[in-house]
Amino acid sequence: DLHSFPTRRSSDLWSFNCGSSSLKYQVIDMEGELLLAKGLVERISMEGSIITHEKRCMDKWVNETPMENHDDAIEQVLNAILDPEHGALKSLDELGAVGHRVVHGAEKFASSVLINSSVMEALEECADLAPLHNPPNIHGIMACQKLMPNTPMVAVFDTAFHQTMPPESFMYAIPYEYYSKHGIRRYGFHGTSHKYVAQRAAQIMNNNLEEMKIITCHLGNGASVSAIKYGKCIDTSMGFTPLEGLVMGTRSGDLDPAIVTYIREKEHLDIGEANHILNTQSGVLGISGVSSDFRDLEEASEEGNERAQLALKVFAHKVRFYIGAYIAEMNGVDAIVFTAGVGENDIGMRDIICNNMGNIGIKLDVVKNRTRGKEMIISRDDSPVTILLIPTNEELMIARDTLEIVTGKPPRSYAM
Ligand code: AMP
Repeated sequence: DLHSFPTRRSSDLWSFNCGSSSLKYQVIDMEGELLLAKGLVERISMEGSIITHEKRCMDKWVNETPMENHDDAIEQVLNAILDPEHGALKSLDELGAVGHRVVHGAEKFASSVLINSSVMEALEECADLAPLHNPPNIHGIMACQKLMPNTPMVAVFDTAFHQTMPPESFMYAIPYEYYSKHGIRRYGFHGTSHKYVAQRAAQIMNNNLEEMKIITCHLGNGASVSAIKYGKCIDTSMGFTPLEGLVMGTRSGDLDPAIVTYIREKEHLDIGEANHILNTQSGVLGISGVSSDFRDLEEASEEGNERAQLALKVFAHKVRFYIGAYIAEMNGVDAIVFTAGVGENDIGMRDIICNNMGNIGIKLDVVKNRTRGKEMIISRDDSPVTILLIPTNEELMIARDTLEIVTGKPPRSYAM
């Protein structure tokens, strides 16, 4: 209940993204959407735990110190953001709210939600569907609740934006009981990122999102494409888990499902081993045998490594395949957006993806395309489809949703 929280004056919000071995955070002053501090904790519960913290206008502050679990990690984060020198806050009371990224909201959550005890119960139920991701998210929420019992907390789901997909997009053609009994359907992920870049694309083009057809390509280590028609997601390439769809850094993406049983038999793999191979030994790493990092692949490719060249071609082929499918599904497209590590930085990859699609209105400007990591229209002036490069900002999106839920008011829109 919103009214049980004391009214807070501060507009400072904390956006929180707690993974299995890492934790990302930002402190944002929502008055002007001003980033006050941000940081990253890596290697939680491993050798060499490390926090990298950055206060606005200051150099990075790095501290390598043992962190056995998420509670230790959160304690380090608090020390960093409350530090008199490189911190961003004098006391935790200055925080208006905390927004938490939660990977899987299943069919229970179609939008962000204020966290209370019944939401926590529902999150536990969703954890079955995302055993690697949801438990650390839940752990992060509980640790924050312990430290800040009077601060409102909001859950922002990776799956929520895709809940508008119609049944023909989300159903698998397997016996219906598997859907009704076990919730086996396509959910989609990276929703916060797809939503953010679609909104930005409409703003940059000075158009109304509700009147546009947009294809958003989130190409990072994990990768997915979404079809966003009139502001709503109608299809996305990831499915029941983040393994479906595009070829990724180390994930296979789409496969003939018969391959799994066939390889298990031929290579004598148990279920865990097969899962491990499809999630961590496949993708562009699996094809190339070189790396999952596109910078390494491009270097190897330039040196003549044919498997690295092949991996890049297979990756691009799959992105083009989905772009074509989504143009058909939406009966056209107004804008194609590239975002995330590869989408924002990989000039060569954007070039291969957009190559030779002039007949369907997609014309990349090869000069404008020589851009990295900043908002930019990279299509030719005569291209019927606008191609955009938009750095994603999931943390800001989490903070905006959090502010909206805590204050009951939609956030002001800022040009950035
Ligand atoms: P993300 O998961 O969004 O952080 O993306 C990470 C991936 O982006 C890395 O594994 C790289 O493959 C890719 N990446 C980052 N910078 C570049 C770059 N300058 N050129 C090509 N790929 C890049």
